[in-house]
Amino acid sequence: MQLIFATQNQHKVDEIQAAIGDQLQIISLKDAAITTEIPEPFDTLEANASIKSKTIHDLTGLNCFSEDTGLEVDALNGEPGVKSARYAGEEKSFEQNIQKLLNKLGQRPDRHARFRTIISLIWNEREFLFEGSCEGQIIFQKRGESGFGYDPIFVPSGSDRTFSEMTTEEKNQFSHRKKAADKLIHFLREQKLPATTNQTL
Ligand code: IMP
Repeated sequence: MQLIFATQNQHKVDEIQAAIGDQLQIISLKDAAITTEIPEPFDTLEANASIKSKTIHDLTGLNCFSEDTGLEVDALNGEPGVKSARYAGEEKSFEQNIQKLLNKLGQRPDRHARFRTIISLIWNEREFLFEGSCEGQIIFQKRGESGFGYDPIFVPSGSDRTFSEMTTEEKNQFSHRKKAADKLIHFLREQKLPATTNQTL
């Protein structure tokens, strides 16, 4: 069974595919040869997730889903939040975003933050939203090599390692994206999916 994931970010595809196993095959935009640049013009994760799934649904006519994620740092009044990808500018550089965040936080002791993910599913012409979040701390210096975005400076509550020091499976024990994906899968199961393969949902 297959479902289009409206993202160009291969890390997100890998994480969600690992989260849901072989119950559903995720088709990325790259797999579907869709090169459209998807807009993220709004100031909420929900609105940005919606425009992404609707853009791809309008293009393909197929059921599909998208997600939008933000890192919310309490001491910075929720920044970078919905601006996480472009925090340091339009180049969307992970390195520059991390440096800007670490500079703004400086030596402040309150380093509490959370990742929040909203998944927007277009299912039979209706939209459904699913949320997942992960609490944690921003550390003072980057640690680890894997993952993407702010992973090298985020330690989830219940661990002493950053997301970048974890495998995808380990990250998924804590991850905001995995929690939202679990809700998506639960919803799809309830729709009594047909047992055939090669079917785009
Ligand atoms: P978007 O959902 O593609 O707009 O992503 C926003 C930005 O948040 C990304 O460019 C990354 O910098 C960051 N981000 C999203 N998800 C994660 C994650 O799981 N770990 C670390 N950074 C993330």
